[in-house]
Amino acid sequence: MTRDDANEGPRPSRGPPLQSKTGQFRSLRGAFPAPEFSAALAEHGLAPLKPTRIRTLQVNLGKLCNQACRHCHVDAGPTRTEIMSRQTMEQCLAALAGTVIPTVELTGGAPELNPHFRWFVQQCRALGRHVIDRCNLTVLELSGQQRGEGVYETSIAALKRLNALGYGDGRSGLRLDLVTNPAGAYLPPDQGSLELDWKRELQRSHGIVFDSLFCMTNMPIGRFLQWLEASGNLQGYVERLLGAFNPVAARAVMCRSLLSVGWDGRLYDCDFNQMLNMGVGESAPQHLEAFDLAALEAREIVCGPHCFGCTAGGGSSCGGALARGPEER
Ligand code: SF4
Ligand code: SF4
Repeated sequence: MTRDDANEGPRPSRGPPLQSKTGQFRSLRGAFPAPEFSAALAEHGLAPLKPTRIRTLQVNLGKLCNQACRHCHVDAGPTRTEIMSRQTMEQCLAALAGTVIPTVELTGGAPELNPHFRWFVQQCRALGRHVIDRCNLTVLELSGQQRGEGVYETSIAALKRLNALGYGDGRSGLRLDLVTNPAGAYLPPDQGSLELDWKRELQRSHGIVFDSLFCMTNMPIGRFLQWLEASGNLQGYVERLLGAFNPVAARAVMCRSLLSVGWDGRLYDCDFNQMLNMGVGESAPQHLEAFDLAALEAREIVCGPHCFGCTAGGGSSCGGALARGPEER
């Protein structure tokens, strides 16, 4: 959950259907002038882009979500029916057991709405893996939510509950990191100073503590791309991303250390490629059934114009900024 999404409020319907992958790519290619992302990488000796070592298995447990946020690149919502099955989870666990990948990151939709969520977390923990749940907060309060309460109030209640359990206290080892992204066609502000503001404000207003704030750039795909086009902001946003290309962030993009698993067990370089239906390169196994860590670590990462969203300014990943922006170096 992000503060901007909270301002937006939950949306009961998904709105107009998204463009196909081909349609989204056509829009992006039209908006992004040459050179392509791979050429920008080549200029800095980074092409072809290859993994360093896979440290995180990111697993999408399904597209079902109790919210339907405007900027959701997953196009998740209450009416989605794509859910990871127990059988696919078992394939994930078998793949994990044959590796020392230390971290499993659960994402969705709202991963907690998958009926096998708890079981899967327990199994990952039993394998000794660190588990990160990308939680929208409001899903934790579904049963206790009062009529008329908005996303912000519900999120505050969820944060208080998490604090009461020890999350975010800096001592328990239970990390509580918050994520935010801009509400419009602009890049995120400096993560460090915004984190200080949020910590001060949440502590002062609600007595809430947390570990870190991650600022994420909105990727020009999915619902956000749809909004950029409809509002006439696409060209300006693309120019902002291109103008802020940061080779330091490019070196650290998350696909170099993460592998993304779709709800149906297909393998992707990242969550964004997953939403564009761009599987891992053909030299690597395409599905959990044929999982082969060595082959996956030897693959070339499949890039597209949307990748400029990961390399602008301080960069952007599931863990927030990747580097300091060019203007700060
Ligand atoms: S997955 Fe996250 S961003 Fe998407 S609709 Fe759900 S809460 Fe919002
Ligand atoms: S969009 Fe995905 S593939 Fe492209 S740079 Fe970002 S993480 Fe890597």
